[in-house]
Amino acid sequence: MSFFQKIGNGLARFMYGRNGADHLCMAMILTALALNIVNAFVTVDLVYVILHTLSTVLTVWMIFRMFSRNLQKRRAENAKFLNKIWWPLKRRFGAVKQQTQDKEHKYFTCPNCRTVCRVPRGKGKIVITCPKCRGEIHGKS
Ligand SMILES: [Zn+2]
Repeated sequence: MSFFQKIGNGLARFMYGRNGADHLCMAMILTALALNIVNAFVTVDLVYVILHTLSTVLTVWMIFRMFSRNLQKRRAENAKFLNKIWWPLKRRFGAVKQQTQDKEHKYFTCPNCRTVCRVPRGKGKIVITCPKCRGEIHGKS
């Protein structure tokens, strides 16, 4: 067995039964990285210290979560994060991406109830009746 295989096996044994990297860990390390990048341009000492502390706390917390053996609690935290933050954000960005890629339709948001209405492009000035609240949306398709 080579030296690197031994290290790999040792690491796998060490990580057995531990949480490892999940979505919340990734979000935490990316946030810490973003804070450090922002911090490179900050000139005010107090803001620098606050951002640096926040980034360090996030990194330490992330490391703690990765090596934690309390899987039930870590998975509950991750599930909460996915439900409250990750999936809503992903759904919103997915919808925006779909709308920008769709060249055959135009999307209008109802000012009353925030319902997104899809209409075909190239019909000129139109009045859309919201299917949810029956409000009118004036626009050009
Ligand atoms: Zn509406």
